[in-house]
Amino acid sequence: MKKLVVATKNRGKLIEIAELLVDHDVKLYSLHDFPKMPDIVEDGETFEENAIRKAMAAFEWTKLPAIADDSGLEVDALNGAPGVHSARYGGNSATDEEKIDKLLAAMIDLPLEERTARFRCAMAFVDSEGEVFVTEGTCEGVIAFECRGSGGFGYDPIFMLREYGKTFAELGSDIKNRISHRAVALQKMREILQERL
Ligand code: IMP
Repeated sequence: MKKLVVATKNRGKLIEIAELLVDHDVKLYSLHDFPKMPDIVEDGETFEENAIRKAMAAFEWTKLPAIADDSGLEVDALNGAPGVHSARYGGNSATDEEKIDKLLAAMIDLPLEERTARFRCAMAFVDSEGEVFVTEGTCEGVIAFECRGSGGFGYDPIFMLREYGKTFAELGSDIKNRISHRAVALQKMREILQERL
């Protein structure tokens, strides 16, 4: 059976990527399966740079084809912050709740029409010969005034999809996996994976 390393330890991402790849006949591994692999430094300036860095590091360590997502939330009123720093917004050890609190505090006086935001994802795949492929996906929404829902991970409780009037945390994985930034990027990677895996 074909093998693919998903270069992440983030369980939320891992579950989503596994769900999105479910009809590919492939055995998935994550970085939890390679505990001795050194941590990957994610200090690139773009999602693309970081995604390539993660996928390439996993490929070099495991010698297996690898895929990595680098993603984050861009808030227009904050000039695109937290952006590539989404995972570390509020400090390296901040919990998801603390990150959300910091973001809501930074936007406290903003009316709905000024709360536009998008999730952005760069997906990098390194095939068995070390060749790199990158796709991107975005998902537009607005930042809610307070947390709603209990599904998903990260900023999902405050990311509201206008067309549904619900946050990603309320919508559940079936819908999220059809419309999310990660789903769009992986969809664009489908043919490449079919040919190259
Ligand atoms: P990184 O790609 O590992 O640098 O982390 C991206 C960070 O962006 C995550 O830790 C989350 O905080 C946030 N993020 C990315 N995708 C999503 C999502 O689908 N829902 C909620 N938060 C997300």
